[in-house]
Amino acid sequence: REIGPKIHRIACIPGDGIGVDITEAAIQVLKALAKATGTFSFDFTTFDWSSTNYLERGWYMPPDGLSQLKKFDAIYFGAVGWPDVPDHISLWGLILPIRKALNQYVNVRPTRILQGTKSPLEGCKREDLDWLIIRENSEGEYSGQGGTSHEDSEHTVATEVSIFTRVAIERIMHFAFKAAQSRPRKHLTMVTKSNAQRHGMVLWDKIFYEIAPSYPDVKTEKMLVDAMTVRMVLNPKSMDTIVATNLHADILTDLAAALSGSIGIAPSSNLDPTRKNPSMFEPIHGSAPDIAGKGIANPVGAFWSAAEMVRWVGEEKAADALMKAVEAVTARGVKTKDLGGSEDTNGVTEAVCRELEAIV
Ligand code: ATP
Ligand code: MG
Repeated sequence: REIGPKIHRIACIPGDGIGVDITEAAIQVLKALAKATGTFSFDFTTFDWSSTNYLERGWYMPPDGLSQLKKFDAIYFGAVGWPDVPDHISLWGLILPIRKALNQYVNVRPTRILQGTKSPLEGCKREDLDWLIIRENSEGEYSGQGGTSHEDSEHTVATEVSIFTRVAIERIMHFAFKAAQSRPRKHLTMVTKSNAQRHGMVLWDKIFYEIAPSYPDVKTEKMLVDAMTVRMVLNPKSMDTIVATNLHADILTDLAAALSGSIGIAPSSNLDPTRKNPSMFEPIHGSAPDIAGKGIANPVGAFWSAAEMVRWVGEEKAADALMKAVEAVTARGVKTKDLGGSEDTNGVTEAVCRELEAIV
């Protein structure tokens, strides 16, 4: 009996704003990729969980939302957040519960300058900026612990408690060391603020140096987050793999994306390395209400995230082909305005689809 091509079941959550535009573009490109390879296909299921949903019905996800997601091989996420809903409501309504419930404790964010694009840093060549930022994705400053008392008075007090546990620090460190080890330079920079924050950050330092001897081929160093921002701008070439806390890496990766050309190109993978739950892939940018629905959002970050998803579900060759197609298109100058081009979302998407037919 003939067995058909492998089917990867993907849950799509376009969310808000340009999340909708770029998810549509990513699905189009993924379908073209599957068609061109002929060896696998995708079965997409779209969930309309969004701020519109929240404003109309009072919830982002239905009560069984998380268990629905568990049935898929991977999750593709657009963006969440809308001006009519406070950001802490939308983040805690959708993306943060998914990351936590599905044990996606690592967030991987590669940063490179793609062909045909350039860094805003003067004289920064493509080979000068190639980072892999590993973000702790389960606790730290985004643990959600704390509270507010004496609300609406001049004595209001709010606490925002950061939580750092040995278990979570050890697992993110092992992931980061292995990631550093897999790259040619084998160089890992750990970022903290352990001079001013004397408990959790000191524990990060301690565990980092406990674990380092298990990876003798990896060169290590530690940096304070403030100094790190300066170094990223002034000496990008001096770093390779970077590991940082939830908050610090959130900020550093926006900076990294801007330094690599645009926030519109940067991808991210929320991984459960145990593979017991589906991992989730999303561009790092948000819903960008200012350009939502105009058809001008840069879809490159969405395509790169899609490529990372394709790699995670085991289609490595197809993932490489997708990135090759994206870079062939940017190299020809087919780019959106944020990268200095004049194409719209659709123009870039169609160019990538055509390129895939040619190269796969
Ligand atoms: P979040 O809180 O979800 O991180 P944010 O408020 O930080 O979102 P983004 O939505 O990431 O902000 O966007 C910041 C600005 O960057 C937008 O206003 C938009 O102009 C630009 N931008 C973001 N993504 C893209 C994209 N894909 N293409 C073009 N411009 C973009
Ligand atoms: Mg942001």
